[in-house]
Amino acid sequence: MLKDNYKTVLKNIEDACRRVGRDPDEVTLISVSKTKPVEDIRDVYEGGCRDFGENKVQEIVKKVPELPDDIRWHMIGHLQTNKVKQVIDKACLIHSVDSVHLAEEIEKQAARLDMTVDILLEVNIAREETKFGMMKSEAIDMVKEIAGFPHIRIVGLMTIAPYVDDPENNRPIFRALKDLSVDIMKENIDNVSMGVISMGMSNDYVVAVEEGATLVRVGTSIFGERNYAI
Ligand SMILES: *Cc1c(COP(=O)(O)O)cnc(C)c1O
Repeated sequence: MLKDNYKTVLKNIEDACRRVGRDPDEVTLISVSKTKPVEDIRDVYEGGCRDFGENKVQEIVKKVPELPDDIRWHMIGHLQTNKVKQVIDKACLIHSVDSVHLAEEIEKQAARLDMTVDILLEVNIAREETKFGMMKSEAIDMVKEIAGFPHIRIVGLMTIAPYVDDPENNRPIFRALKDLSVDIMKENIDNVSMGVISMGMSNDYVVAVEEGATLVRVGTSIFGERNYAI
């Protein structure tokens, strides 16, 4: 049963927290349900999960009305400006803001609905050319610029680490994201907090938790392999 997988991952997170002296309540497990049917999501929901992650706007839009309304939906995938309008009042947190241009569109749509939107800045710590995310060197300037938008609240950072056989290889990436969040805090920018650190996936979430993740995004270890062909 998928809910058992969810509980196993939760247990691994708790163990990782204990090893490094963190309170397990600081870490939220997001079950990444992209490509998976609502029955699978319901199974994990019954196991106690309330945070689910999707990377496509159309998938969130389709699933929201079919599932309990106490689910918190996380938009974790690359977001195109023309899709912001559809997702803005459905996602509790947008993890993937990587440009001022995208933030401008979020600001515009949030103002229209008279709401404030929580976002994370996606930073490409691994400097992979294929990945989205701003470079670390751009991050502080971008935080300062986006912090001026009245309908956006920057609450932290997110990164996607590469797939590696040995998750230890991603430890420096996770540490660098955490360090960057500390550097940004030191700037004391109004309207910016750095309490949320979204990092770690099926392969490396234990290491990410040891390095300070507050949100981990786990798909395969809970739902099994994804089939993109269907
Ligand atoms: C798919 C996805 C995940 C989950 O990946 P798994 O390896 O299946 O755990 C996490 N974060 C993002 C941004 C994703 O797109």
